[in-house]
Amino acid sequence: MSPEKKGLRRYHKITSEDSAALSAIAGRGNVIAAPEKLLDYGRDETPLLEPRLPELVVKPQTVQTVSALLKYADSKRIPVTTRGGGTGLSGGCVPLHNGIVLSLEKMDRLLEIDHNNFVAVVQPGLQLGKLRDSLEAVGLSYPVALGEMTATVGGSVATNAGGMNAVKYGVTRHHVLGLEAVLANGEIIHTGGRFVKCSSGYDLTQLLVGSEGTLAIITEVTLKLHIKPACREALFIPFHSLQQAIDSVPEILMLGKVPVGLEFMEESILQIAESYTGKKLPYRGYAAFLLVLAEADSQDEIAGYFCDVEAVVRKHGAADALVPPGRLAMKKLLEAREGFYHAIKKFAPMQILDAVVPRSEIARFVADVKKLEPKYGIPVVVYGHAGDGNVHLHPICRDMPYDAWMRKLDSMMKDIYELCGRYGGAVSGEHGIGMDKKAFFNTTGDKVVLKTLKNIKAALDPHCILNPGKIFD
Ligand SMILES: Cc1cc2nc3c(=O)[nH]c(=O)nc-3n(C[C@H](O)[C@H](O)[C@H](O)COP(=O)(O)OP(=O)(O)OC[C@H]3O[C@@H](n4cnc5c(N)ncnc54)[C@H](O)[C@@H]3O)c2cc1C
Repeated sequence: MSPEKKGLRRYHKITSEDSAALSAIAGRGNVIAAPEKLLDYGRDETPLLEPRLPELVVKPQTVQTVSALLKYADSKRIPVTTRGGGTGLSGGCVPLHNGIVLSLEKMDRLLEIDHNNFVAVVQPGLQLGKLRDSLEAVGLSYPVALGEMTATVGGSVATNAGGMNAVKYGVTRHHVLGLEAVLANGEIIHTGGRFVKCSSGYDLTQLLVGSEGTLAIITEVTLKLHIKPACREALFIPFHSLQQAIDSVPEILMLGKVPVGLEFMEESILQIAESYTGKKLPYRGYAAFLLVLAEADSQDEIAGYFCDVEAVVRKHGAADALVPPGRLAMKKLLEAREGFYHAIKKFAPMQILDAVVPRSEIARFVADVKKLEPKYGIPVVVYGHAGDGNVHLHPICRDMPYDAWMRKLDSMMKDIYELCGRYGGAVSGEHGIGMDKKAFFNTTGDKVVLKTLKNIKAALDPHCILNPGKIFD
């Protein structure tokens, strides 16, 4: 059957003429065609994903160049996959249909900090860690903190990234006030502005947030800022069961002060993290843990809050509640949490799912997932964001040949996503659908919603050149 009959589009292969034209648009020094350099742009951090090579990598430096590149690509039907930091966990920046990878690494400037309006205007290639450092130096903060701070502003906007501070501050979407973006036909749009209120027509800013490079290329972002908090502390709490830990969460959130983050983890992940970092963590022999992160104007305020939290968790069976003694102990604990992904990756071949369920359902959802372990003979390591229902699940390959594990993995993931749907959840809480979770998203999602999303895609990108094969086919 021809690719068109199968519903797959046939794209134009880049010729030497195209390469010359694209080099003329972007500048020769901003184009990579050498095969040995293309692999770096053909993958991200997603486990188990086969890389796909682009035919050309282009690194624009201005919005006008992005516009001219897209005009050319659209007229020739060349696919364009945008790349930020390449830290994605769903294959979003992998060029499934080859073509051009548009890397925004050279558009990485912090253009302005507007103190009067509490906003920053930034280019998409700026890394989140660099943004954080620049803002903290002037007493401000952009509180979206991912486990990987080499991720870029553009990538985090395009995936609507979450992170550990979402309980108090929300996710990326809640901080994007305006965008400059380039549509598939090369037209440049400006959405939103330096204000938090806007009831002026459809909200294109929020449509582009989380669109994974499939609707437009984001070339500038206006972000909402906060005052840098004076103090930040963590409280680490061991429980005899995950149910006890999760049962404490609603009451913690009712205390009148919102924690910045509220993380849960099972013991297995702490052991894996310990052997990865070589650093001992407090407590042994407990089934589950909560990590409560809090910010306040003074240490006294935090101490008072943690006393209230301790009273709640003790009622739910917590064995203890520990504030890491000193900066070093706190750093060690947070580094261990941030290192979970790399620790598991080193421990065994694994997959990552970032399902989201209502936070009250986390314990029952995880208990049901655990019932799948004997069915498939595959252990699942679990941790996540207890305050917002985002559960990270890693089916790992242990005591089973890799091929057999791979053969069973898809069915197990399907079962997990079905459970997630039954508990009122969604396929991805923060990593996006990309190509990795496309099959599950397309089979478990609302069919009319899916049709509407495809209509939006067709309206904005009629020739389907922007990141084709992502979110849906
Ligand atoms: C160790 C580790 C920890 C992580 N922790 C978290 C976490 O706590 N929370 C979380 O949400 N994620 C987390 N992630 C996932 C990842 O960091 C995020 O998805 C991040 O937002 C990706 O940013 P990036 O710049 O690397 O984007 P990329 O991976 O380069 O791209 C991601 C997607 O965005 C699109 N895109 C990139 N730039 C643009 C642009 N300018 N315009 C349009 N589309 C664009 C790409 O086409 C792709 O679809 C983690 C990943 C790792 C490896």
